[in-house]
Amino acid sequence: MKKELDFFHHLALTLLEDEITNPVSKRIPVENLYEQLDIRLSDAPISETRWQEAIQAIVLATPKSASKAFFNQLYGGRQPKAAIGDLLAVLLNANMHTYKVAGVQVGLEKEIIERSCERINYGEKAGGTFPMGGSMSNFSGMLMARDAYNKDIRNIGVSSKMIAYTSQVAHYSISKNAAFCGIGRDNVRHISTDNQGAMCLKALEEQIIKDMALGYTPFFVNATAGTTVLGAFDPIDNIAAICKKYRLWLHVDGALGGSVLFSDKYKHLIKGVEQADSFCYNAHKMLGAPVTCSILLVKDKKHLYQSFSNDVNYLYQTDTDDYNPGKTSFHCGRRNNSFKFWTLWKAIGRQGLAEIVEKEFHLADIARTYVRNHPDYTLYSFDNSTAVCFNYKNINAKTLCTSLYHHNQLMVGFGTFAGQEFIRLVTINANNSEQDILRFFEILETHAVSLSYQI
Ligand SMILES: *Cc1c(COP(=O)(O)O)cnc(C)c1O
Repeated sequence: MKKELDFFHHLALTLLEDEITNPVSKRIPVENLYEQLDIRLSDAPISETRWQEAIQAIVLATPKSASKAFFNQLYGGRQPKAAIGDLLAVLLNANMHTYKVAGVQVGLEKEIIERSCERINYGEKAGGTFPMGGSMSNFSGMLMARDAYNKDIRNIGVSSKMIAYTSQVAHYSISKNAAFCGIGRDNVRHISTDNQGAMCLKALEEQIIKDMALGYTPFFVNATAGTTVLGAFDPIDNIAAICKKYRLWLHVDGALGGSVLFSDKYKHLIKGVEQADSFCYNAHKMLGAPVTCSILLVKDKKHLYQSFSNDVNYLYQTDTDDYNPGKTSFHCGRRNNSFKFWTLWKAIGRQGLAEIVEKEFHLADIARTYVRNHPDYTLYSFDNSTAVCFNYKNINAKTLCTSLYHHNQLMVGFGTFAGQEFIRLVTINANNSEQDILRFFEILETHAVSLSYQI
């Protein structure tokens, strides 16, 4: 292993250097992929040198999500204190189902869950788990809601027409999960939003009443804290009141924006979250932990057991349920996704996590101000969001984004809201500075000039 670690160390330093000198990896067209890189696997072993060369070429050709030119997705950058935790998690290879095999690592996971629950005033009975990502956290929320409505569904299956509610601009995992849960995608109601992308309360209540009149069974509402495109926050407080009135499970999908719980300045965006039955946030998005790190919190942890536990005598042989997290998860074997978040939180404290969140909102303010002050731009997104959506001159968003990518300039994507397509800049890398954001616009504008020559 020492030889491989020396190689790793050398290659890691080369990568860090390359992220600065070549922030966008040269794009390899898919049709050339297997010719340009030594990817093919064969029967015979290869020499150590060739093995190392193949790996180095592949590492340097991989899109650089930690560079200052990556704005493409809802993650980016690198928190060194978290990256080290994840590297160690690989070496330790702790399997997170029982205390017997994961030991102290279970304690770290519980600590993150408990301190997070405390931040949102979740109360005595709260608990949580680390699903494989935000989609899976949302899946867990819907499953617990289904079984809370009727715990026998685990045995007999779904027999009534159960209806779930989410906004028109919610993450697609809600519909996908309805299929997984046996609810059916057609039984998800996509409630209209206001002009800033937040769920419309009146439309929600009207739809619930309509479904009840038809004899259907409303059971679940998903509120989004930070929608995927605009970064909008649904009014959790008011949605919770509706859920209470009609006795519906409230899940809050905070995969993107839920991390505001750490910031006293932005926590108001999830006001009312303590009333939600379940809530998730992705530390691999706003907080910069390596993919994936999603935390699911449950107001009453009995629901985790009700939906996920199965007694298996070959597995759970020691310790109490509280320290055998396999009883509250989808998985049997489960990767340790908590150590990386613990190493980060331990180093910078809750205050440091708040600073990361606040920096990202600040960078978004910088970007929005730039867009507002330059007449060549049109802004489509709103304050209190780390997504800045705009168009430049009359250039088609898709054309500009694709060209920036093909010319190895910037990784940035496009989105749509209310029938309008636009570029979506996400300021989710807290290692970026104001200058880096202004540089983004400079690169885009320079590239737009060359694009106009090509057309
Ligand atoms: C990213 C995202 C998800 C999905 O999270 P994954 O970890 O990618 O599965 C769900 N909801 C929202 C609002 C998101 O932004």
